[in-house]
Amino acid sequence: MSTKSFNAFAMAQAQFDRIAELLELDQGTRDLLRQPLREYHFSLPVRMDDGRVRVFRGYRVQHNDARGPGKGGIRFHPQETVDTVRALAMWMTWKCALVNVPLGGSKGGVVCAPHDLSQREQEALCRAWVRAVARDVGPVLDVPAPDVMTNGQHMLWMLDEFEHIHGGKYPGFITGKPVAMGGSLGRTEATGYGVVFMLREALKELQLRPQDTQASVQGFGNVAQHAIELYHQIGGRVTAVSCWDHGAQRAVCFRKKSGIDLPELRGIADRFGTIDPQKAGKLGYELLPGDAWIEQDVDILIPAALEHAITDDNAGKISRRVRLIAEGANGPTTPEGDHILRERGIFVIPDFLANAGGVTCSYFEQVQSNTNFYWTKDEVLGKLDLAMTSAFIDVSQTAHQRKLPMRDAAHIIAIGRVAQACHDRGWV
Ligand code: GLU
Repeated sequence: MSTKSFNAFAMAQAQFDRIAELLELDQGTRDLLRQPLREYHFSLPVRMDDGRVRVFRGYRVQHNDARGPGKGGIRFHPQETVDTVRALAMWMTWKCALVNVPLGGSKGGVVCAPHDLSQREQEALCRAWVRAVARDVGPVLDVPAPDVMTNGQHMLWMLDEFEHIHGGKYPGFITGKPVAMGGSLGRTEATGYGVVFMLREALKELQLRPQDTQASVQGFGNVAQHAIELYHQIGGRVTAVSCWDHGAQRAVCFRKKSGIDLPELRGIADRFGTIDPQKAGKLGYELLPGDAWIEQDVDILIPAALEHAITDDNAGKISRRVRLIAEGANGPTTPEGDHILRERGIFVIPDFLANAGGVTCSYFEQVQSNTNFYWTKDEVLGKLDLAMTSAFIDVSQTAHQRKLPMRDAAHIIAIGRVAQACHDRGWV
């Protein structure tokens, strides 16, 4: 972890300013896009199981909706800040534009530690969040989804509250719903699988065969677990995975050089992706400090936890063998860290391309919810692969034509599309 102060929104704005310069955007467009259009801050009183009322802070930030209703997840995290939510909302705008779905960018958050909340308390929190913004979100305004430490059950409680308030059935209000309740097959897998679709394309560019590669993964939540699952299926081997140990309040890295066994680790992890270190030790995993994931002698790194994972403090520790980084998390690499990766010639699949599978599948879920006609899992994943692979090809072509890294090329495409939409609407 870098000791320098880190502000995700300042980082997102600096990224934007650099691309605005490359695109020669006019001042009005810059002023519009470097800030959110709207944001809501609220207090959420929740009666806890012991009878006391605890008040949580919640946010919804709507960065831009020129291309369609806002879209983006809701995070439950003890270190959530409004600036992180602002950055994540901006990144959602670029992500939706990059994969060319007709959606804008939003993000929500609640400052809370879901590990410490009972199911009933979590339900009350979800319902309170919806009550706070019920008039400002909805199928044609802004559509939430799961993110860090939220899941289908949370989405269903939120949907139920929204429908209760508005007096009707609105399955298009939220995505990431349980499959039996209007969700899409493949949505749970989509973000992690999408990371591997992008990894597969990048390996082709690097002329590497997946079965000849090894990877180290940061995180063991939904994105990481499904990325590992598909990467194993295409022949890769994950030798290390790190996760947050909530009890000990530190990260731990689990290493098995012969390759981790995904079902085995899933069997000893809680629902937030914390692996039990004692049980892992008994199963023959080496327990290393949390940041050891980045120093592994592997070909591929997959940061799939939170922002601020690869910085100028630790990028120098990346093994000379690493050829490829696929950013499963949002914002895992700071600009300073990115600079080091560029100098090293590491191929980076930027977050808003690598992890776009989630929102792309959310868009498919909306289409299915709105038409009340549901597709097979193969259909969903086939369409997902097609949409993401075509976005990868766009980015790779722009990168080659303009001699830019993938991240800059992706920003140029995405920000260009959003700026055009604002212009076409007559906003700027
Ligand atoms: N939370 C996911 C993301 O960061 C998915 C958002 C969505 O499905 O709306 O992309």
